[in-house]
Amino acid sequence: MMITVQKFGGTSLSDERGRRHVLRHISRERATGAGLVVVVSAMGRRGEPYATDTLLDWIDRNGRSLPDREKDMLLSCGELISAATLCSLLNREGIPSVALTGGQAGIVTDGRFGSARIAKVNPAKIAEHLADDKVVIVAGFQGMTEDGEITTLGRGGSDTSAAALGAALEASVVDIYTDVEGILTADPRLVGEARPLAVVSYEEICNMAYNGAKVIHPRAVEIAMRAGVPIRVRSTFSDSEGTLVTRADLAREKSGWMDRAVTGLAHVGGVTQLAVGTPEGPSDLQLRVFRAMAINGISVDFINVTPAGILYTVGEPDADLAIALLREMGFEPRSRAGCAKVAVIGGGMNGEPGVMARIVEALTESNIPILQSADSNATIWVLVSEEDMAPAMRALHSAFSLHLTP
Ligand code: ADP
Ligand code: MG
Repeated sequence: MMITVQKFGGTSLSDERGRRHVLRHISRERATGAGLVVVVSAMGRRGEPYATDTLLDWIDRNGRSLPDREKDMLLSCGELISAATLCSLLNREGIPSVALTGGQAGIVTDGRFGSARIAKVNPAKIAEHLADDKVVIVAGFQGMTEDGEITTLGRGGSDTSAAALGAALEASVVDIYTDVEGILTADPRLVGEARPLAVVSYEEICNMAYNGAKVIHPRAVEIAMRAGVPIRVRSTFSDSEGTLVTRADLAREKSGWMDRAVTGLAHVGGVTQLAVGTPEGPSDLQLRVFRAMAINGISVDFINVTPAGILYTVGEPDADLAIALLREMGFEPRSRAGCAKVAVIGGGMNGEPGVMARIVEALTESNIPILQSADSNATIWVLVSEEDMAPAMRALHSAFSLHLTP
């Protein structure tokens, strides 16, 4: 039996209109004869009654003394409500269905409450229900440990649930339905001209996701990539095909962009830049600084080491601790809060001369100072001040003509 996994995000399920579209996609897919596994997120965004962020706010106000284990029990409820609601809607339409918790669906995780990792999936129960011709609805974002504890998977966890189920069931495709037309060349909230990409490779979207594109979780992409299951990111509210995420060679073949250097942009705000000067004479400064950051679980970025000193960035939530640690070691760090990381991403930029030159040119023309830069084979990052973030994204988007992306 061909199996399709569909995942519907929070905004897709939050109101009548969205849920009507969800039903439409389910009916259409079911009519193809495919076995259907539907992963759901909690309904709506912060402020709406059953949204995950609303539950988190509730915990903040009333449950600060709640242990992590019980916090996960509470957080898992949003998806359970979605799953049961969808089951009721499908019954009303005469479509037989069954709703399962993550644990019941066979998603086995480790015991890290709040950010559990999927260890394996036992798809036997899902397979039974599919054989009974039922649509299997699975609560996303959650799993269960070997000994029966409820866990949640962290931000974007429903994407991960869907990819893991797709891999375990050898699905022909995992369809991630959301509130945009696919993976766009940049976040449409910042760049009005952003365009949906027809095809991207797993690697490219992983790079975009790790650099802040919240449209899909990078762990989900990695799981699908390892299993060789294609992902489609598409809109709940339309019938467009959205973006196909597949192997680089297939992506190249399907899109016909042999020489696309830059695929898209991503951004992360809330970054603090730190500078530490080297004392006179030889020292083990670098070793001491980075060891202290590592021991304290502070992840560092944009690392520049020169004989004159070191320059690097940390996330804003870690900045105070990082500065305190540096002072404790006898340094006088200089810090610049309110920075943003802008990433220019493309599987085809490797060996393509002039990409950096175009970045510098575009930002200089817009009077945007580059505070730091870094690059890898498929990404170039620039650090800019946070108020320059959106203008920088727009300048780069037009410098690389991403609005012309087919
Ligand atoms: P869901 O609730 O469906 O999981 P998310 O909010 O997690 O939805 O993801 C969709 C959002 O991701 C879009 O509304 C969009 O603002 C944002 N986004 C950020 N970068 C991109 C991008 N490159 N392409 C598409 N959407 C993006
Ligand atoms: Mg999401």
